[in-house]
Amino acid sequence: MSSAEAEHRTPACPVERGVPRFSFSSGSGSMTNLSCGENSSEAGRQIVNEAAMDRVVIFDTTLRDGEQSPGASMNLGQKLQVAKALRDLGVDVIEAGFAAASPGDLEAIRTIARQIEGPVICSLARCAKGDIEAAFAALSDAPRRRIHVFLATSPIHRDFKLKMAKEEIVRRAVEGVKVAREKCDDVEFSCEDAARTELEFLCEVSERALEAGATTLNIPDTVGYALPQTYSETLSYLKAHVRGLERAILSVHCHNDLGLAVANSLAGVMIGARQVECTINGIGERAGNASLEEVVMAVKTRRDVLGVRTGIRTERLHPASRLVSQVTGLHVQRNKAVVGQNAFAHEAGIHQHGMLSHRETYEIMRPEEVGFTNSSLVLGKHSGRHALRERLVALGYQLDEAQLDKVFGAFKTLCDKKKEIYDADIEALLIHDQLGPGVHTWELVALSTTSGTGTLPAASIALQKNDGTRHQEASAGDGPVDAVFKAIERITGITGKLRDYRVQSVSVGEDAQGEVVLEVEHPTGVYRGRALSTDIIEGSARAYLDVVNRIALRQPSNGRAARELGTV
Ligand SMILES: [Zn+2]
Repeated sequence: MSSAEAEHRTPACPVERGVPRFSFSSGSGSMTNLSCGENSSEAGRQIVNEAAMDRVVIFDTTLRDGEQSPGASMNLGQKLQVAKALRDLGVDVIEAGFAAASPGDLEAIRTIARQIEGPVICSLARCAKGDIEAAFAALSDAPRRRIHVFLATSPIHRDFKLKMAKEEIVRRAVEGVKVAREKCDDVEFSCEDAARTELEFLCEVSERALEAGATTLNIPDTVGYALPQTYSETLSYLKAHVRGLERAILSVHCHNDLGLAVANSLAGVMIGARQVECTINGIGERAGNASLEEVVMAVKTRRDVLGVRTGIRTERLHPASRLVSQVTGLHVQRNKAVVGQNAFAHEAGIHQHGMLSHRETYEIMRPEEVGFTNSSLVLGKHSGRHALRERLVALGYQLDEAQLDKVFGAFKTLCDKKKEIYDADIEALLIHDQLGPGVHTWELVALSTTSGTGTLPAASIALQKNDGTRHQEASAGDGPVDAVFKAIERITGITGKLRDYRVQSVSVGEDAQGEVVLEVEHPTGVYRGRALSTDIIEGSARAYLDVVNRIALRQPSNGRAARELGTV
């Protein structure tokens, strides 16, 4: 879109440019209008009411910062599923990607902007005209949208990455916010690596960004360096010294390198931050971001101390967590707070006794509150379409009729191979075969292997490419699995180095499916693939194809491209 068209499509907002429309503020928190777009005044009123002094805005960045986790790339269909889960969860803002990072990212943001109603949809952008234009182009169909511009402010970033003097940083930040405000009324500005920036300079950049029209000011601890106390001090200093901050939302964005992302975020809330940036399961760069579910449940459980609330429907937390774990291939550790498998498990006899007499002896939250269901409902041959749909919704998936038809067909086929169908089986059907139809570059058509004592292990495999062509290859190997991988590499031309290979059973019974999990190193990054099958060799082939499809999809790689451009 040309800038003239972009200009034309900018919705007329019922306010004069540059004049803050919302100037009420409170003692401890601060607030502003989060919205922009056609319904801006209505949506604006809603969010302003919501962002009252006791309301914390939940800004989810699973699809942007979360996707930058090594090996966590998602295809378009998977991103859309996650966006639907975030909408159902009730997040206020979805950061859907970094439009300028790759054409795939821009397309994903555009699709989410068109299809997901309710939350504000946001794109990250550097303080550069091209980035901001790409963000706006991606967001133009969203009823409510935000452009999130960022620029590094710390000495180490100024000297070694940007090679810019302080004056130049201020000039670019102001310019970036102004350009973004010309296109969108809802503009967030982030000082990348704020936690390692000199306080006075941080104040200067922040104040100038607010003057230029930023409506949310984000203070990221990009490298996870802060401690709750130092982070609080930084935010307090800003509150005391930055003019105009009382009319904006102060936001926190913390990384977990020292395991303090949630603690630091909550410290920020206690100082008056009214937006928390976080991800489902805490996924993200390196050790990850603040975990959404932990922030939300801390706010809910300790309202007595924090005195704030969020708009999150907490009973959707566990389904959202499962979904993100499935689509990214990043397992949730068993003892993870709030959503881990053991989060509500009590094994020690003394605890069980206490639990039976009075739950609260050992439980500060109820499992139902976060969407853990007690039912170990098992589906089977006699389960109908309706039962399957119900189960899918409970697991966090929203499918349209055509997708449901496809899953139901696959479900019936699986019922012929397997008596009882568990949640993990259903998830496997979705993740590996159904999400994002048409985005799989390669599909398995046929496979046969030979192995045994005294014979040379060999595999012959047939794959179908998404252009409809069929390809066949055979290969010998150190074992049947190795032979399969080599045959796949010959066909696809994608060669990786296997770093990890695991097989585990996902459900119970003699006919249980085996889950194959692979980690493969490729010049463009590290990829994880998963597949389920009642046959381990076939499962291995499908898992390797999952990796190959992720590699084929990721050109150029989203996370890598984003990292090269910088990130908050
Ligand atoms: Zn980040």
